[in-house]
Amino acid sequence: MAKLPGMILDPQSPLFLKWGYLPRALPWLSQFIRNGEESKVRHIAAGLATLIGDSVEQHKALATTSSAAGFISAGDYTYLYQNQAAFDNDAWGLALRQEHGSDNTRLSRSDLIERDPNLADRYAVGGLFSDHGWIQNPGRYLAALCDDFLANDGEFWQTEVQDIIPAENGIEVQSQGESRRYDKIILSTGVWSTQLAERLGHKVALESERGYHLHLRGTNITPPNPYMCTDAKMAVTPMDDGVRCAGLVEFAGLKAGSNPKATDMLERSIKKLYPNIRWQEVDYWLGHRPSTTDSLPLLGHSPRNRQVVFAFGLHHIGLTAGPKTGGIAADLIMGRPRSEDLTPYRVGRFD
Ligand SMILES: Cc1cc2nc3c(=O)[nH]c(=O)nc-3n(C[C@H](O)[C@H](O)[C@H](O)COP(=O)(O)OP(=O)(O)OC[C@H]3O[C@@H](n4cnc5c(N)ncnc54)[C@H](O)[C@@H]3O)c2cc1C
Repeated sequence: MAKLPGMILDPQSPLFLKWGYLPRALPWLSQFIRNGEESKVRHIAAGLATLIGDSVEQHKALATTSSAAGFISAGDYTYLYQNQAAFDNDAWGLALRQEHGSDNTRLSRSDLIERDPNLADRYAVGGLFSDHGWIQNPGRYLAALCDDFLANDGEFWQTEVQDIIPAENGIEVQSQGESRRYDKIILSTGVWSTQLAERLGHKVALESERGYHLHLRGTNITPPNPYMCTDAKMAVTPMDDGVRCAGLVEFAGLKAGSNPKATDMLERSIKKLYPNIRWQEVDYWLGHRPSTTDSLPLLGHSPRNRQVVFAFGLHHIGLTAGPKTGGIAADLIMGRPRSEDLTPYRVGRFD
């Protein structure tokens, strides 16, 4: 909290705010900040741990019958710190993760260099999480999962849904010039879920925490496992076709174009991690993380309409939490019991 004003004003900080957007973002931001109290953060951490604690296993189980399994890598995840003070500053967060089963081992500079000789002097201390994983190519991974779904008699209809209307024993899904009727639906349209949720009478405080990535192809250096550069708030991940550098948070809404200052910052940050890195091609991407004010998703039946299950609001961790979230949504729609406590994700809590 104390760091926030400085971060917003500092042009070198990984937090960006479009000042003209501030009046619109303010109600969301003030609620979000209130949820930064320790007791609330503990509640949020427990709720998220349920969804991501066994993520690697969940992904493996989901992908077991498809070629998607080939995109899952299991391994370490290393947080990088500039010095011992920065590592010590993170002690509270590391301890909280440990309480939820994610152990962290301190790595010295020589440990880091032994694992990755290309690493810049900038990083003196590491925090190693083992039993992690990453997806080498999220686009192809999802395409392979979709192929598996179709091979199991799933159907795919790609359209822009304009309205969802409760009907007798079902829901009418309306898109341009076409309307289809379903017994039940799962509403899972990321940050764009607000308007469709409103059609069912629910208020949902969702904001886009905009983020960026650089995907570098043809690099001369590949990290041995994913890194989190804690100063730059940038994750660096080895992919099947290069290196992905992702991160930053920008509040500017859904309509603003991408901000070149953000991608420049990622480019500077990767050079601070690997001063000798070179690449042949680069792709830039702006994405919208669907974030609730209490950092917990909406996952469960709509209390206003039992035919609809909500599954959105997974901010920075939608890929990590995807299999468990999807499994819960599928069971709810099929009327199968779940053992997890789903009350933290209760639909209707913002109404
Ligand atoms: C830079 C960046 C890096 C990230 N890195 C990670 C990471 O390392 N690990 C991780 O777990 N997560 C990461 N995330 C977060 C992750 O991308 C999100 O949490 C995730 O995409 C949310 O999934 P979703 O399906 O809820 O929403 P989305 O991925 O936004 O998907 C929503 C979909 O709904 C569609 N849609 C919207 N409205 C309609 C409509 N009316 N009709 C039909 N379709 C509609 C959209 O077109 C879209 O395809 C990152 C995000 C960013 C921006």
